[in-house]
Amino acid sequence: MKVVELVRKHIDSSHFWKLSLEEQKEILRRLFDDICKLYEIQGVSLVIDINPFMYQMTGGGCYDRVARRIYLYKVSIMTFLHEIGHMLLGRSERKARMWSHKVFYLAFPALYLKNVKEGRFFHVITLEELERFDECIK
Ligand SMILES: [Zn+2]
Repeated sequence: MKVVELVRKHIDSSHFWKLSLEEQKEILRRLFDDICKLYEIQGVSLVIDINPFMYQMTGGGCYDRVARRIYLYKVSIMTFLHEIGHMLLGRSERKARMWSHKVFYLAFPALYLKNVKEGRFFHVITLEELERFDECIK
């Protein structure tokens, strides 16, 4: 199953934000496990630690390349995907950004375009750029 299909399988974008924090965390943990299986990555982990201070410090999360661990300081689908982008593609900020935007866009096109229109994303990427990017999109 492709990564976009996995995201759609686990996250119902109209329902996700109505769930409890624990339910949201559980969904992200299951999605993380499935994505690791898809990319055949072992020995990585995901820590979801709701922490406003660290959220401020990191912009939402980070990938620790030594511990091979994603830290997520807020439940955010885009931040989650961004850190997975780092896990797959390394430290390049541009690649992590392109990967997360592309997966979000392909999984939830209407929601993606709505969020862009409402200025909800930190970064603006043109649809042409998104179309061209295909690294580690499988
Ligand atoms: Zn980053």
